[in-house]
Amino acid sequence: MAFDIETESDFEFSRYTTFGVGGKCLKAFFPKSIEEAKYIFGELKTARTRFVVLGRGSNVLASDRFFDGYVISTLRLKGIEREGDSITTLAGTNVSELLEYCTLHGLGGLEFLAGIPATMGGIVAMNAGAGQKFICERLTKCAVFDGELHNFENKMCGFTYKHSTMRDINCIILSSTFRIEQSTPECVANRIAQYRCARRNQPLKRSCGCVFKNPEGKSAGKIIDECGLKGTKVGGAEVSRMHANFIVSDGARAADIYALIKYVKEKVFERSGIPLEEEVVYIGEFDDSDC
Ligand SMILES: Cc1cc2nc3c(=O)[nH]c(=O)nc-3n(C[C@H](O)[C@H](O)[C@H](O)COP(=O)(O)OP(=O)(O)OC[C@H]3O[C@@H](n4cnc5c(N)ncnc54)[C@H](O)[C@@H]3O)c2cc1C
Repeated sequence: MAFDIETESDFEFSRYTTFGVGGKCLKAFFPKSIEEAKYIFGELKTARTRFVVLGRGSNVLASDRFFDGYVISTLRLKGIEREGDSITTLAGTNVSELLEYCTLHGLGGLEFLAGIPATMGGIVAMNAGAGQKFICERLTKCAVFDGELHNFENKMCGFTYKHSTMRDINCIILSSTFRIEQSTPECVANRIAQYRCARRNQPLKRSCGCVFKNPEGKSAGKIIDECGLKGTKVGGAEVSRMHANFIVSDGARAADIYALIKYVKEKVFERSGIPLEEEVVYIGEFDDSDC
């Protein structure tokens, strides 16, 4: 191998996802530079092996079964650079690290991300957002590698609600650049505190945040609540009593969570006629024997 990339042979999704569930995979790679990330992505793609790119694992449900493939984790791919009214982060930079930097230097515009336990690569891939603001409103460009390097301008990213083109193509987002504004450390810190405060109603147990997308502007949580599903349990998985769009785990298996997701979808459709769509991303095999 041309690079000495850190690997983990005993990689378990349960240790690398916020749900805390999921089985093992063949091996995980932890590139710490863009060159290493491009190299390992290229190698796995050329070998036509199965692999997934994983950030903080805060929006995925990985199967309990063995994943017969590899993981490229971006967790070591960190870096922040500022140039004028732009800030560029490497994919594995945590939201909290970025916001710490923004606070220190009095840079505004990204405070709405406060409290999202994610990497910036994951934030861009999912077009994450909070309080009616989405990262697509701040992203100017990103460097994407799919075997070749592409510099995507914002309009090439195909951003829609909680989705980007980068989810549809087999690629790794290496870095992203965002528009920021000069502010003061105090203002930035205050806005971050406000966004954190707005999360008071979110459950603290293990979860992936919101499981379902909001259908056509309606709140999925409100719909699930109105269907009387708060507190519904399958094994160690429960529809949160605090926020019905959260499924929380109390020692759940991935199969419990999967079965509960299917149950909620079925009951909501039966009772309201509304088809819910998952925001959470599945990794590995799930089937009806899991229900
Ligand atoms: C407590 C809690 C609160 C949350 N609150 C919010 C919220 O307010 N708003 C919101 O939008 N989401 C929220 N989420 C969900 C989640 O944090 C976001 O979807 C986030 O964008 C996922 O980032 P990640 O790094 O964890 O990505 P992962 O979960 O690791 O991956 C998610 C998807 O992105 C892909 N991906 C990740 N990194 C890259 C990369 N570098 N290149 C290419 N593809 C990549 C993965 O392959 C996968 O398909 C919350 C989750 C939790 C647990």
